[in-house]
Amino acid sequence: MQVKLLHNLVEEMAGENTGRIVDILFGKKDVNEFLIAKKMELTINQVRNILYKLSADGLVSFIRKKDKRKGWYIYYWTLKTEKCLVKLESSLIEKIDSFNHVLGSRETKRFYVCNPCGIEVSEEKALENGFSCDECAEVYELSDNSKPIRDMKARITRTEKNLDMIREELKIIREKESKKRARINKKNEKEENERKALMKIVRAAARKKIAEAKIETTKKITKKKTPVKAVKKKATKPKTPVKKSAKKKPVKTVKKKPAVKKVVKKKNLVKKLKKKLHRGK
Ligand SMILES: [Zn+2]
Repeated sequence: MQVKLLHNLVEEMAGENTGRIVDILFGKKDVNEFLIAKKMELTINQVRNILYKLSADGLVSFIRKKDKRKGWYIYYWTLKTEKCLVKLESSLIEKIDSFNHVLGSRETKRFYVCNPCGIEVSEEKALENGFSCDECAEVYELSDNSKPIRDMKARITRTEKNLDMIREELKIIREKESKKRARINKKNEKEENERKALMKIVRAAARKKIAEAKIETTKKITKKKTPVKAVKKKATKPKTPVKKSAKKKPVKTVKKKPAVKKVVKKKNLVKKLKKKLHRGK
């Protein structure tokens, strides 16, 4: 990992002499801000200013904890490596673009220089000034573009190399991340399947229990009901032939009454009915 590149990035974002913070934070997690201040020989407010600037771009993150003795919050900072690399990537792309722009104009345009002042101007500006320096009136000389072209090409190559490195680094980090995510997903899926399987077992057990309970209840009811039913049937059967007879009404009343509770009463009633019915025949 290119700590030096990060160093430069931080200085671009947060100002001169702030790059040292990268050396302190790099490869660590939740670094106490007082420790950072001590190492950088800055006040806590100066350190916070740097960190706030960086956190605005998501390059650092923080957690805060309350100091139980002093009662105030202490911030703990972490460098967000992936975010830094992404930022670095776009900053390097911008640089390459601007270098290419300069290279293009050096390759296609003429520049003029006043040697005593060391001032270089574009052809348009030189024309405007009548090809003599507007500071010292010295006649401009045509600039030799070969050195700036060489320099620009070298800078572009170097920056592209850095960009490749950063992209490689990002690739590795992202692969790691996606592997980690895949592992977590797999784990979650496994747990979910286990949970489902367990629920299935629990539900099946519950169903079995309910079914058993039903059978049990049915058995009990059947035991209680059997004599009543038998009697009832005997009582209702002869009902049909006597339907139109005057004895119809009492039969109906008996039928409507709840069977189980008043078994004895019913039995008596049924007996009476039977007798009546016999007589009716
Ligand atoms: Zn001059």
